[in-house]
Amino acid sequence: MEEKILSTRIQVCTPEELDARYRNLLDQAKEAAASAYAPYSGFHVGTAVLLENGEVFSGSNQENSAYPSGLCAERVALFFANAQRPQLAPEAIAIAASAQGRFLENPITPCGACRQALLESEMRFRKNIKVLLYGSDRVYVIECIKDLLPLCFGKDSLV
Ligand SMILES: [Zn+2]
Repeated sequence: MEEKILSTRIQVCTPEELDARYRNLLDQAKEAAASAYAPYSGFHVGTAVLLENGEVFSGSNQENSAYPSGLCAERVALFFANAQRPQLAPEAIAIAASAQGRFLENPITPCGACRQALLESEMRFRKNIKVLLYGSDRVYVIECIKDLLPLCFGKDSLV
């Protein structure tokens, strides 16, 4: 029997070790967390999407009393960016989360549905989206969404 081992390369760093562009993107994600509507979970997520022209679109989680009707911060920001600038590829996304008024120590990671939505954007524009996951103790940097979604299902799977 053959065995396959999948691995993901994650760079672990502090915000200070990132270049100014990405530090700024993390700051915008942290700022966006303040606009979350999260009365049910108390979990405030902020996201900032950097487009190839340098513009940034941010978003936050928007909850609903009918829980599945809400939407994660990642998709709020991504769809906002895609709707406003449909011709421009996202280059990077930064994600930060706070609970009880404090940012999480460990990096927050996107849920499976958001990874799938981000993958669609990566495939649509044929351009990797760098992922910056903020934690107050450390930041994870991942080179592309595909690295977060091994054995992914994409448009090529539909053949
Ligand atoms: Zn999500």
